[in-house]
Amino acid sequence: MAGIRKVEYVMSQKGTVQVFLDGYRYDKNVVRQTCIHWKCVDSTCKGRCTTVGDFIRNVSDHTHPPEDSNFNDYLVINWVDDDARFPIPLWNHHQTAGPRTNNNLEGFHDRLNRSLPHRHPNIYRFVEVIKKTECADRTKIAQLDFGASPPSRKRVYRETENRLRRLKDMLTQGQKTPIEFLDAVSHLLKLG
Ligand SMILES: [Zn+2]
Repeated sequence: MAGIRKVEYVMSQKGTVQVFLDGYRYDKNVVRQTCIHWKCVDSTCKGRCTTVGDFIRNVSDHTHPPEDSNFNDYLVINWVDDDARFPIPLWNHHQTAGPRTNNNLEGFHDRLNRSLPHRHPNIYRFVEVIKKTECADRTKIAQLDFGASPPSRKRVYRETENRLRRLKDMLTQGQKTPIEFLDAVSHLLKLG
């Protein structure tokens, strides 16, 4: 993935250009032909990166975590800005009515593992199992298509869904500010 990442440049306090990547800042080190080699601003760290044109080519590990303010910039640049690497519609689940986590996939993998006789089955046994799984799932989908009610969720999850829906309504109707909404949601989902 490193090869296709665009470089983000920032200005240091001294006015020199730095590369900003994943919460780390780099000073220009050496220019060799088309490559520019950058070194971590922390002189005790061996973190390095190389850029070619406007793209990152190599990145090495750091001996320290990214700085707090850098981390904030990292979040904004990667997830929030208009031209963020992961644009908001890609990760935002505000309008999602279905699952908001991949726990259902974890559950599927767990069931798949348990339906296999042992850890490394031969390919024929594996194909047999996934055929059975597909068959069972097609039946379930057909039942849903004919109006069967989906499996009921645990009461605690239903309650969370209802509260979330009420909070969203309050936000939409202007009874809560975005910050109050986020506060309530993070409390509800125990993120705080
Ligand atoms: Zn470093």
